[in-house]
Amino acid sequence: MDPLPTAAIIGAGSSGIAAAKALYERGVPFACFEASDRVGGNWVFGNRNGMSAAYRQLHINTSRDRMEYSDYPMPKSYPDYPHHSHVAEYFDAYVDHFGLRDAIRLQTRVQRASRRADGVWELTLADGSVESFDALLVANGHHRDPRWPEPPFPGQDAFSGRQMHAHAYRDIVLAAMRRRYVASERHTIQVDFDEYLRALGAERRAGARRARERGFRLPVAARAADAYDEMA
Ligand SMILES: Cc1cc2nc3c(=O)[nH]c(=O)nc-3n(C[C@H](O)[C@H](O)[C@H](O)COP(=O)(O)OP(=O)(O)OC[C@H]3O[C@@H](n4cnc5c(N)ncnc54)[C@H](O)[C@@H]3O)c2cc1C
Repeated sequence: MDPLPTAAIIGAGSSGIAAAKALYERGVPFACFEASDRVGGNWVFGNRNGMSAAYRQLHINTSRDRMEYSDYPMPKSYPDYPHHSHVAEYFDAYVDHFGLRDAIRLQTRVQRASRRADGVWELTLADGSVESFDALLVANGHHRDPRWPEPPFPGQDAFSGRQMHAHAYRDIVLAAMRRRYVASERHTIQVDFDEYLRALGAERRAGARRARERGFRLPVAARAADAYDEMA
């Protein structure tokens, strides 16, 4: 009988570790390459891979029971909408629960993946070494690389304030110190920001409607745009 094909996974976020578990259970030999020094991807706040968009106050907006893996529930001690630290902890525990730790090669960035004429994948790693696999699963995340709208929003070039992509947003306190604030596609940030300002007693002077009147359009990439004149 032919041996099973070998497989490589790029990334050990929630997608990569689930793929690893599926391969492991079926006895497919595989290696999972992870650029960071730990698993969890986007949910590791301040992840050393520099790719995480998690901010300090981030909680999931999909609920604990909805986001958990069907075969590995999140602890019932977690709140209904756990904090990012719970989610990162949960993914870490998943790896140990299913015995995947040894197959994940941390701090091993894949620089390039190319397919030979015979169908074999060649992965070039950051140290220059090359490894070959029969199959490749790419789980490198879709929020790691911030993209600005193209073409830019009308009036964007003329705006003299700081313009920040949601990917760079880390802490609500720093954001609240800004006089003008434009949230990106994730309305989670918008909700958190509103709550924080209300807690401070700040008055909300102009909402998305007024921002729209000023010339901001709100396409997919920017569903919410709010301006605040005063901070408490
Ligand atoms: C602010 C925010 C809030 C969100 N809230 C929710 C939510 O409430 N519920 C929900 O279900 N989803 C939410 N998401 C979506 C989130 O993307 C997913 O939950 C999840 O993180 C996707 O997992 P992933 O494994 O695909 O990618 P990631 O978590 O991004 O993991 C990708 C991994 O690949 C690694 N990697 C990348 N390139 C390489 C390379 N070249 N070589 C080696 N390793 C590499 C990275 O280091 C990383 O560990 C949110 C996203 C953001 C940004």
